[in-house]
Amino acid sequence: MAKSSQAKRVLILGSGFGGLYTALHLEKKLARGANVEITLVNRDNFFLFTPMLHEVAASDLDITDIVNPVRKLLRRTQFFNGSIKSIDLDQKCVVVSHGDDDHDHELSYDHLVLAMGSVTNFYNLPGLAEHALTMKSLSDAIRLRNRLIKNLEEADFECCPAQLERLLTIVVAGGGFAGVETIASVNDFMREAVRFYPKLSEADLRIILVGATEKILPELGPKLGDYAQEKLAARGVEFLLNTAVQQVSDREVTLSDGTTLKTSLLVWTAGVTPNPLLNKLDCDKQRGRLITNEFLEVNGHPNVWALGDCAAVPDPATGKPCPPTAQHALRQGKIAAHNIVAAINGGQQRPFTFRTIGALAAIGRRTGVARIMGVNFSGFIAWWLWRTIYLSKLPRFEKKVRVALNWTLDLLFSKDLVQFMEVAPSRLRTEAVTMIEVRQEELAKADAA
Ligand SMILES: Cc1cc2nc3c(=O)[nH]c(=O)nc-3n(C[C@H](O)[C@H](O)[C@H](O)COP(=O)(O)OP(=O)(O)OC[C@H]3O[C@@H](n4cnc5c(N)ncnc54)[C@H](O)[C@@H]3O)c2cc1C
Repeated sequence: MAKSSQAKRVLILGSGFGGLYTALHLEKKLARGANVEITLVNRDNFFLFTPMLHEVAASDLDITDIVNPVRKLLRRTQFFNGSIKSIDLDQKCVVVSHGDDDHDHELSYDHLVLAMGSVTNFYNLPGLAEHALTMKSLSDAIRLRNRLIKNLEEADFECCPAQLERLLTIVVAGGGFAGVETIASVNDFMREAVRFYPKLSEADLRIILVGATEKILPELGPKLGDYAQEKLAARGVEFLLNTAVQQVSDREVTLSDGTTLKTSLLVWTAGVTPNPLLNKLDCDKQRGRLITNEFLEVNGHPNVWALGDCAAVPDPATGKPCPPTAQHALRQGKIAAHNIVAAINGGQQRPFTFRTIGALAAIGRRTGVARIMGVNFSGFIAWWLWRTIYLSKLPRFEKKVRVALNWTLDLLFSKDLVQFMEVAPSRLRTEAVTMIEVRQEELAKADAA
């Protein structure tokens, strides 16, 4: 695996926005033939473009439209598809595992890049982790889409009114970007899909957003938050704000004001926490995020770099850590790559000084809200900006074409209602074996006759 025994080894953990862009910029910056070995480790063999995740959940885009295989994005980086199990900063060694038997590999390094992102925080609320769906990964989006369709299919032949309410009430918790974009997509999807279920009508649907704050989309300011809320309410979304989820079961959600919502479908977008792998590291942290200096180097650990959602990188403009967003993570990747090359070759390190350009949210039916360089946009123009900007950011021309084509076809056709099978492989095999056995018995009987 090693290029040469003297090669400097750069090990990147995580191929999300932070890790992938570090690798991409390292590849660009390192001269051809440079004696540097880059290894990238990730659980999935693809890079997920999270800003479009809600479009997969609501059947606007196909499941592979918003992901890119890491191997097609990187040319000289070695990719290890597996799980990071432990990190030893003293021994400069990371244990990763893969394969059916989950066997371990030890990867040692000279420079380590920690970019493992964040995980959903369930705040130990009773029943939440067991029963809620989340919106962080591609499988989350596929699962949500499947559950929406499954509930519609079941409800169409459900005679008990109490079950109907449970199946057709969908609750999204969280009034931030992920929650609002998810509820907007789910609402559009359900209201369009219900036409194909003759025993159901739009009046049977309850699509509810529960948020702990007074306004939705607080990052965009009250005006745009109010605009988004009014638009969504006019399309049938109910809002329960200043309210928190307290308890969840497979049949209902209990809220802080004592309300109980009969539902078996809660989507939890109301909290993230840095990757738990960081807990074991003896480093300075702020709310679980690794504290770095302005050059993205972890405090007290030379040649260990951290970025993205798992790092608290100082923002010189505010004095606070940078917000956990994709636009920060990918730009931090560029700076990390520069500083690693400078550390290896000798050169000037560069501080991270990016200021947020803007924030955008798509709220369905060709409307959006955006705040760009302090200017507010809403309605069609904001939606158009959302699509144009994110399409331009989606890596690889092929995926851009696929997404653009799917968006165009959306103008002509209604959303797909195919429910993807979620059968475990072992069960599939058992079913196949049973079918073969039955067929053999039938043939044997026919022969005997
Ligand atoms: C639904 C949603 C919508 C969003 N929309 C926007 C938006 O519109 N604009 C914006 O700026 N930001 C948005 N964000 C936030 C943005 O996605 C994150 O800030 C960004 O992904 C952080 O990048 P990262 O590299 O730190 O982490 P990630 O992109 O999360 O990457 C971490 C990687 O590490 C891998 N990993 C973690 N643990 C392990 C392990 N033990 N073993 C192997 N691999 C591991 C993960 O699989 C993942 O690939 C959104 C987030 C979500 C969930």
